[in-house]
Amino acid sequence: MRHLAEIRKNIDSCWKRLSSAGKSGVQLMEICGTHTVAISRGGLRSLLPDGLRLISGPGCPVCVTEQSYVDAAVHLSGISDVIIATYGDMLRVPGSSASLEQARCDGANVKVVYAAHQAVELARRQPDKQIVFLAIGFETTAPATALAVRQARGEGVTNFSTLTAHKLVTPAMRVLLSQPDIRIDGFLCPGHVSVITGFREYEPIAERFGRPCVVAGFDDEQILAGICEILRQLAEAAPAACSVYSPVSADGNQQAKRVIEETFDVVDVPWRALGVIPASGLELNNRFADFDAAKRFDLPEFDAAEPPGCRCGDVITGRCLPTDCPLFGKQCTPREPVGPCMVSSEGSCAAYFKYGVNR
Ligand code: SF4
Repeated sequence: MRHLAEIRKNIDSCWKRLSSAGKSGVQLMEICGTHTVAISRGGLRSLLPDGLRLISGPGCPVCVTEQSYVDAAVHLSGISDVIIATYGDMLRVPGSSASLEQARCDGANVKVVYAAHQAVELARRQPDKQIVFLAIGFETTAPATALAVRQARGEGVTNFSTLTAHKLVTPAMRVLLSQPDIRIDGFLCPGHVSVITGFREYEPIAERFGRPCVVAGFDDEQILAGICEILRQLAEAAPAACSVYSPVSADGNQQAKRVIEETFDVVDVPWRALGVIPASGLELNNRFADFDAAKRFDLPEFDAAEPPGCRCGDVITGRCLPTDCPLFGKQCTPREPVGPCMVSSEGSCAAYFKYGVNR
């Protein structure tokens, strides 16, 4: 607790320096679903100076995944002998016609897994079925997908494939900074992703755009320490990339980076609300293309229409808060979600609904 009080004192002191330099308001973006939830759960906004605003960015894997991906997964679930293996958060994301949960109620075979290798296990146990693993997430989960594909190849498990929608964090940060209607004075960077990438990954953003990029851990003290470091850099006009989270090194996990590089190609991919971002996603490379479910099942193109009235796209780009959405807490609740930000355990709307805005 003493440490927390000290961090708050330092935040106040940086804030005073910023105020006396004429900076009247600061807006920081966290790009990590776990931070989003922790900030709401800990009521951290209420501990910050007036004029310091925290907004959520595209850090929740489910929320940034396009509607068309959900529709593709639901389509695959309707093919006879296909079993969809998915992380639990994807189950209830509404697609254009149905969610995977609804498809399951209608007879589709959809199983929840907690790790990619469990989908390979499933394939090994059910050789007469085709197991399609929904591979979503950022640099954090991509190594596990890569290892699962390699495991399947090594063990001759041919009835396993992945519908891959892995994304890379920094290309989205660059796109956000080029939007004239979005104000971001600094980034609270994701802890888990940065364990893989290393904090040096953010250096070009700090240098080119002049925004502090600080990696933080997930408890209240860690998050406030990250915010404090961003304010210090702003007060000293010395933006940099760094980490206040000890597991994160400058260069990250070389082994995990290597397995990503050797398994995937970096490609242009669509993000919810951000459109197609060049070199922002991962696709299985030629060596592993036979594990690509889109190719194996000759998937058609799906439309990417958003659920009517849902402002998830604005929420994950910091253009609005969840409470600005007219459906928040009315037509859209965790029990009956309209958009992915209310479904996912890391979604901003779900966090605001569960913990209140300022508690
Ligand atoms: S409250 Fe619901 S409908 Fe509105 S942006 Fe959030 S998820 Fe979408």
